[in-house]
Amino acid sequence: MKVSILGASGRVGKATAFCLAEESVVSELVLLSRECSLDQIEGEAIDMYDALAAKDINVQIGTSCQLESLVDSDIVVITAGIPRSSGMPTIDLAITNAKIIAQYARAVARHAPESIILVVTNPVDVMTYVAYKTSGFPRNRVIGLGNHLDSLRLKNMLAKHFKVHVSEIHTRIIGEHGENMVPLLSSTSIGGILVKYFPEYSSFDVDDFIEKVKNAGIHVISKKGSTEFGPAFAIANIVNTVLKDEKTILTITTYLEDEIEGVNDVCLGVPVKLGKNGVERIIRVKANDDEIKAFILAAKSVKKVTDEVMAVLNP
Ligand code: NAP
Repeated sequence: MKVSILGASGRVGKATAFCLAEESVVSELVLLSRECSLDQIEGEAIDMYDALAAKDINVQIGTSCQLESLVDSDIVVITAGIPRSSGMPTIDLAITNAKIIAQYARAVARHAPESIILVVTNPVDVMTYVAYKTSGFPRNRVIGLGNHLDSLRLKNMLAKHFKVHVSEIHTRIIGEHGENMVPLLSSTSIGGILVKYFPEYSSFDVDDFIEKVKNAGIHVISKKGSTEFGPAFAIANIVNTVLKDEKTILTITTYLEDEIEGVNDVCLGVPVKLGKNGVERIIRVKANDDEIKAFILAAKSVKKVTDEVMAVLNP
């Protein structure tokens, strides 16, 4: 199966490429970049081939700055765009990146009309909406990395606090990938038992925990300049689930039409059943009143930025 990456010279793009190259379901990878980065992605591809030979992996890795190379892609991952930086208002980031996403989403629609678009660029919920509207694809085939990475971060932190194997934690974050993310602690379980029934819960500072999850990405960026491995593995989870038609329930960004709490015409992170058709079902969440209120707040906040961005794209 063929996966293409737009923005492949970037830190997330190349980490994703390397991660996907190891996945047996991927037979062809295409790294796409602007012309100015072509040399770099050619170097990345050679370096990856060297590494993969050590593991007897025989994947085809192409490099190109021609959007025609998207043809026959099963999934197109878009990581192109500028990253968040401290002090930059979300709306400025969103407008800059929306122009890139719109241009690439149209190109995907032209050259790979049957593909699934996976948006990574931030603010990812707004960018997923832009890709959905500009590609003209059905909504099941335009998804965003959304809260999957946030949910993995929460899972990790809970495993450390409760001192259990990470696989025993079942938890989700929904809403916005950003300030208004909503950890669903009321339904979080460890080994099938609700987290509130564990003795360690009494020493569990929920607010502090939520703040740490919200700032997890920024924390990594402040130390090493960007996040790479976390997003790359989270993206690989999604790509694998789709290409293998696994029907796994992951919390990713999708376009909502009244399925959850009457939220409509906005892209947000919610649990979905993922398979070869992309989003095969949106799962209604079980949340307490505070979590529902926070989800509605997230929807309003993302919708406001989305409307402003769409007004600039379609004046
Ligand atoms: P980066 O290292 O700066 O790379 C971004 C790439 O985007 C560049 O290498 C370039 O690739 C492309 N690009 C930049 N400006 C462009 C323009 N004007 N037109 C077309 N392409 C352009 O950034 P990164 O750390 O990889 O992050 C990439 C994006 O992913 C950011 O928006 C970041 O915030 C987001 N992100 C999201 C999540 C999430 O959970 N959703 C997690 C991590 C990162 P080419 O030269 O190859 O075209």
